[in-house]
Amino acid sequence: MANKTDEKEVCHCMECGDTIRYGRADKKFCSESCKNRWHNREEKSTRGYRLRVRNALARNYDILASFYRQGIDNVEMPVLKALGYDPSFVTSIMHVGKRIEYMCYDFRFRQTSLRLSRLTKISLVVHRSGEKNVSLLDLMIDDHDKSFA
Ligand SMILES: [Zn+2]
Repeated sequence: MANKTDEKEVCHCMECGDTIRYGRADKKFCSESCKNRWHNREEKSTRGYRLRVRNALARNYDILASFYRQGIDNVEMPVLKALGYDPSFVTSIMHVGKRIEYMCYDFRFRQTSLRLSRLTKISLVVHRSGEKNVSLLDLMIDDHDKSFA
């Protein structure tokens, strides 16, 4: 075991843990192969994470789409979960008044631990009104205002 004074001077490879004997004091790896191995694994885990998120969103989207096609806009959460829906994967969360609305791409809805409700599909087509470009968000706010008018 190294004592305190040794620990200050001795660096350990982030990949294999071996003592790094040569090079700058801030060197992180004992060799090129350790450095490559570490970076490859990091990249793979990032790619894996992104893939899992994309798959979860795609699965949620397919489930929402199938209910939407059937004209169902209100589903109990346990039913959705049994189909593989994961409520923690959405593409956006908006505060609308005191409520929170969620989106999974172009599906917009509310969800609690009990149910998903008011499932609607928004238009992704951006319209022009005169010279002014209307953003998707503007359309959504307009739509919301209308529904409360
Ligand atoms: Zn190493």
